[in-house]
Amino acid sequence: PAVPGKVLRVEGVAKAFGGNQALKGVDLVASPGRVTALIGPNGSGKTTLLNMICGFYRTDAGVIALDDKQLQRMGPDAVARTGVARTFQTPNIPEGITVREAVMAGRYAGHRATVLEAVLRLPRYRKVRKGDLAEADRVLDLVGIRHLENAEATALPLGQRRLLEVARCLISNPGVLLLDETASGLDEDEVERLAEVIRRVRDAGGTVVLVEHNFQLVLSLADEIVALAHGELMAKGTPEEIQNNERVMSEYLGI
Ligand code: ADP
Repeated sequence: PAVPGKVLRVEGVAKAFGGNQALKGVDLVASPGRVTALIGPNGSGKTTLLNMICGFYRTDAGVIALDDKQLQRMGPDAVARTGVARTFQTPNIPEGITVREAVMAGRYAGHRATVLEAVLRLPRYRKVRKGDLAEADRVLDLVGIRHLENAEATALPLGQRRLLEVARCLISNPGVLLLDETASGLDEDEVERLAEVIRRVRDAGGTVVLVEHNFQLVLSLADEIVALAHGELMAKGTPEEIQNNERVMSEYLGI
């Protein structure tokens, strides 16, 4: 496949912050060619779970694995090098670089020094291999912003910056793509374009995990929805099953 996803497995993951048990033993499986959406009311533990998968926090208990590699004892850089890629709610793209340069810098996920070199345009970064250019073309095409390759990255409208974030993740051929509220603040057209890109990544074989407040978007995109409440699994199922789940509808949406 063009985007070879891996299986992300979360088993019994628990995390407390002081006396606050943010995650109480959560299970989740995300597979290639599928979009898995993580939903739940504010404070239910979605961001904490993403942070644990990325190695920002250590787990108190449980296993996090990408294919058969266990991640739960690794720090963020090591996790990134195994192929976990994540977009952030606030795109963190440095000033003064073009869209293409920003995408190319994505190759260095998990390699801190080289990201800095990229930003400073040090020699090693300027020495671009031919294959890298082709890779950049491929992901710019995949997210549909190739025509903007020479634009200044931070000057793009939010919708296109979010697509750029996705492209930066894709260039490292991630085993799993974690999208954190990627649609927030976008207008309807931008959301539709983003949805199209996510479908394309999924259909190309990618493993996609989506944390998203836009419930319509979740319903239209997700193959499986995992609903958390109070740090625990509340429900899991297809969009249709979740829509028919009274507890989810009342706790999450207040319907
Ligand atoms: P969600 O993303 O679903 O809104 P969070 O994962 O942000 O939920 O929060 C889950 C719980 O963990 C909340 O009670 C929150 O206050 C707590 N929490 C999250 N991160 C931290 C942290 N770094 N320090 C202390 N408490 C935290």
